[in-house]
Amino acid sequence: MVIFKKITDLKSYLSDKRRHQKIGFVPTMGALHQGHLHLVKESMKNNLLTVVSVFVNPTQFNDIEDFNKYPNTLSTDIEQLASVKCDVLFCPSANEMYPDGFGEKVTFNIGNIDKVLEGTFRPGHFNGVCQIVDKLLKIVEPDHLFMGQKDYQQSMVVQSMLENYYKDHPVKLHVVPTVRSSSGLALSSRNERLSSTARQNALAIYNRLTWIKDNLDNMSIQDLENGAEEHLLKNGFTKIDYVAIADAKSLEPVSIYNKEVKTVILIAAFIDGVRLIDNLLVN
Ligand code: AMP
Repeated sequence: MVIFKKITDLKSYLSDKRRHQKIGFVPTMGALHQGHLHLVKESMKNNLLTVVSVFVNPTQFNDIEDFNKYPNTLSTDIEQLASVKCDVLFCPSANEMYPDGFGEKVTFNIGNIDKVLEGTFRPGHFNGVCQIVDKLLKIVEPDHLFMGQKDYQQSMVVQSMLENYYKDHPVKLHVVPTVRSSSGLALSSRNERLSSTARQNALAIYNRLTWIKDNLDNMSIQDLENGAEEHLLKNGFTKIDYVAIADAKSLEPVSIYNKEVKTVILIAAFIDGVRLIDNLLVN
């Protein structure tokens, strides 16, 4: 695996390589786990020269505490990426990515998809995501981009950004299913910050996602959402941002479940001071 910290070095390396092989790109914030590695393996499986970035992007954190506590495990990240034979790691400094500071004003017009759910609870978050993904895409110029369903709304926002801003340089987005522990907990770098009790209690999220899915035909949407919130609060969660049953294409709330309409259940809630998100597609 080749490791680059400088944009110019990575670009010149890729300019030669891209003549022979298509490029697959996996952007991450590090603290890598099997979920991230699954994205890398998907890219490798498609015979792509696979570039992973590890960069904790300050502009997508609406909570400075969350940013300060974000785990940094670069040496083990490197070992993990090397173990799956990843081709290239790009791990730039903050100064390399934001030479003019983090105050750079850029606004992405994404439609409505970034205004609901995460957009409501984390103002500015998706604009920060678009800002860094756009910078990275312009550096790596991949043919394929791999992102996780774990961040369902994020993948929709990025798809919309690609449609609105990358018409002339098409990048194919692959959304890869969420990797879970054997108990169902979605793997997340933030799980590292949970105590063992909280980690056990955190299973309530997946438990309620499947409970809602199993009861969509015989309970009202309101009762399902309220029932799930109550269960989470009884199981160690201290604050619920949302339990939402939504149209999987628009993220508009669903008022009556219709099997014919692709539907997604999404949860964001705090446990042990850590905000966890997860989702489940139901049809
Ligand atoms: P992050 O480092 O959290 O920004 O995540 C980098 C990429 O990995 C994003 O596209 C995430 O959706 C994806 N990802 C994170 N956790 C998982 C998981 N458990 N399963 C699949 N993909 C994941």
